[in-house]
Order: sequence, then structure tokens, then C-alpha cells
Amino acid sequence: MSSGKAAQQRPHAVLIPQPAQGHVTPMLHLAKALHARGFHVTYVNSEYNHRRLLRSRGPGSLAGADGFRFEAVPDGLPPSGNDDVTQDIAALCLSTTAHSAAPFRDLLARLNATPGGPPVSCVIADGVMSFAQRVAEQMGILALVFWTTSACGFLGYLHFAELIRRGYVPLKDENDLRNGYLDTGIDWIPGMPGIRLKDIPSFIRTTDRDDVMLNFDGGEAQNARGARGVILNTYDALEQDVVDALRREFPRVYTVGPLAAFANDALDAIGGNLWKEDTSCLRWLGAQRPGSVVYVNFGSITVMAPAQLAEFAWGLAGCGRPFLWVVRPDLVSGETAMLPEEFVADTRGRGILASWCPQELVLSHPSVGLFLTHCGWNSTLESICAGVPMLCWPFFAEQPTNCRYVCAKWGVGMEIDNDVSREEVVRLVHEAMDGDSGKAMRVKAMAWKEKARQAVDDGGSSKENLDRLVEFLLAGDD
Ligand code: UDP
Repeated sequence: MSSGKAAQQRPHAVLIPQPAQGHVTPMLHLAKALHARGFHVTYVNSEYNHRRLLRSRGPGSLAGADGFRFEAVPDGLPPSGNDDVTQDIAALCLSTTAHSAAPFRDLLARLNATPGGPPVSCVIADGVMSFAQRVAEQMGILALVFWTTSACGFLGYLHFAELIRRGYVPLKDENDLRNGYLDTGIDWIPGMPGIRLKDIPSFIRTTDRDDVMLNFDGGEAQNARGARGVILNTYDALEQDVVDALRREFPRVYTVGPLAAFANDALDAIGGNLWKEDTSCLRWLGAQRPGSVVYVNFGSITVMAPAQLAEFAWGLAGCGRPFLWVVRPDLVSGETAMLPEEFVADTRGRGILASWCPQELVLSHPSVGLFLTHCGWNSTLESICAGVPMLCWPFFAEQPTNCRYVCAKWGVGMEIDNDVSREEVVRLVHEAMDGDSGKAMRVKAMAWKEKARQAVDDGGSSKENLDRLVEFLLAGDD
């Protein structure tokens, strides 16, 4: 379909992720999946991320392909000294909401006025970029939202309003963070039996009714009710009760995960990693025994205290296992992450460090036996799809919710206390790799991996939902 006339007839989807790694990647997978189904795609980065992608992947990665184009809008944040770090998420949420709507409107108008270019037929806005959904609707364009979280995380955000109404939130005082209050069971959220306050996305852990993230994420979840459909990167069998509960509230819920399985292979050169990938770790993994390596990665946003970094380091040193640890330069609060020199000397030959890796390839490598993770939804789903059990150290947002499901519901992980100690790391790594719980987790992990494969296979729930989504995007009605 390369002739101008054919291009005009192609449906045109514009996708806009929140400009953070955990949103950019799944939105790109969705964009590629739509391209594979005949859509002309415009993928909208922030100008900041556009520059970072050019740097980390080279101009080729953003040159696009036939019917796949990149655009950029400003995020409204002032330039930072360092152009290669994750931006402050709260500031980004407020700033994009306040400053990105007008440029996005201009962009849609420009795309519609491009001679020979197909007019925009639908907008897929990130769930936390609902301004884009509103702009599209005002212009008479079909708009859906894509919540890139787990379904259980999304359902948690949806209940912020009710938690506030019933007086659970905000907390009475700071002591509620430590005095067992967060263990309070919440038995009235449909689809989430057994959930506790501590499992609800972390932004409820505030004493301030005006807390930015409490109001922002709670509000954005409610805004999804105004969209024509909600897309989720999960599969039904994994979160059946939660998905059923969501379907009772939303007329169109498209569970289409794991989306990576649908991405158009012809677009492999287009990638969304904001850091330059270090692929040498794959060679190192190739020299390790099957199932022997502990892979450690806390994602793109987690920031820990220097003392916590040291406990993880000495825990990894003490467990005696080979490990691959991805340490972002901005992993430690307020300074460049520095590992103790004795740790580096002690573990030389047994462990390797990288600053960013191709995670999906790492997780599917046969040498990897365990993933020590912050439970970001993408990392969690990637681990499930690779059949790798997890040690969970949730940091913020819906990561505690994911951790609860990983450990208590899916049986594929064990939680590390927030106040991490080296002894606990050693004990849990041993338990997960040599103990009976480890054995049980591996069996379950393989079962969930197989269910994920079935979901994207012919006749599988996610494949059928993707077909339904495409039909809806084409017809604008069902
Ligand atoms: N990722 C990666 N290499 C790394 C670290 C992370 O490719 O070294 C990818 C990872 O595969 C995932 C995303 O970055 O797709 C992180 O998203 P997630 O939701 O797990 O966590 P967040 O970064 O949003 O906290």
C-alpha cells in the first residue's frame, strides 16, 4: 500500500504515550500491532524523549517506515541539566496536562491537512494523558485510552475516589505508614477479594488530601469513563476477576496483552528504549549454566537510598550466585549510583553490571533463573511471559498491587521488605532458586507463560480482543 491513493484510504491511528519508558514501550507495541493490521500510524513522543531516542538508537530508529511516522510535542517542562534521565513523574503529569494539549491539537489539525496523508481516524491516548482523548473528541475524532498498567492496578486507581469518600484516605498521620494501618483489609472492591490498603497503588499513602499523584491518577482513572474504550496490556486468564469487574463498569475493555507478541516484525528497527542498550550481557549470559543467573533490574524510575543499594549489593555478593545487575546512573537518590569497591572486587567474575539492557531478551535467556524486580507492570508481564519467577521489591505507583498479585494470586514471586537487608536477600534468593517454594514458583511460572502464549494464539482471548479493537477503530461503532 505505498501509492498515494492507497495511503489515503488507510485508517490512520495517532498514538500518544505518557513520555516515560514504561508507557513508551507498550504503546509502541500497540502501534506496531495496528500497523501490521493495515493502519497508517503516527506515534507521538515528547520532544525530550524524541531527542533521547535519537541519541540512544540513532536517527534510523525514528525515520519510520512505510505508513509509520513519528511526531513530537513539548512536555512543557523546563530543560534539565542532564538530558538523559527519567523526568520527575509528578511534574510531568501536571506539565503535560497543562501544556501538551494545544500542540497536540495543532498536530492533529496539521495531519488532517497534509495533502495525500490519510486523515486521522482515531486517537489512542495514554490513560494518564486524558487531555489527548478530550482534544480528539472535541475535533470529532474517535478516542480510546490505553492504561499501560495491570488491570488490577487500574482497578485500584479507579477506587481512589471511593477510598477517599469512605475516609480511608488520606491517612490520619504519618504513623499510619508504620502502625499496621496499611494492613487493613478492603473487602468491598469487586474483583479484588483479600486486597489490603497496602496493595492499593501507593499514591494513597499520603496525609495530604491535595497530594498531586493521589488526585492526578485518581482523576485520570475516572476520566477513562469518558473514552469510547479502554485498552489494557494483560490477558484475561491472568486477571479474570478484575477484568470481569472492569467489564461490568466499562462497555468496551480490550485486554490485548502481552502486546509484544503482536508487534510487526518488519518494524524491528524501530525501538523505544530511551537508554542505549548494552548487549554484551547476552554474551555473558551465554556462558552461564541454565537457570543459574539472578537478573536484577529496578526499571526506569525507581530511586533508592544509598544504604538500600548497599544491602542489595551485599545480598547479591552473599548469595553466591551469578548475577546480572542493571544499575542506572540515576538509581540512587541525589547522587550517581556507586557500588562499594569491595563488592565489585568480591564479585568479579561472578556478576556483571550494565546500565541498560535489552530486558525481554535477557528474561527469555535460558540462563536466567530469577528476576529481582520493582514489579513495574511491563517487567512483571515480561517475566510472566518468559516463565521466570520473581523477587519483588515494589517501589511506588501500582507496583505494590502487582507484587500482591505476583506473590499471593499467581504464586510466582516472593516479596522483599521495603527496609531491605542483605540477609533477607540471601535467604530469599536461596529459597527461590533451591528451596521448595522456588520449585513451586517455577511450575506456576511455566503455566502462566503457556497461558500467555495461548492468549495471543489463534482463538486466544487477546488475539480476538485485538481483532475486535481493530474492527471498532475501523467502524467507530459496534
Ligand atoms: N527495560 C529495558 N532495559 C532495562 C530496564 C528496563 O529494556 O535495562 C524496559 C523493560 O523491559 C520494561 C520497561 O523498560 O519494558 C520498564 O517498564 P516497567 O513498567 O517495568 O517499569 P518502570 O520503568 O515504568 O518503572
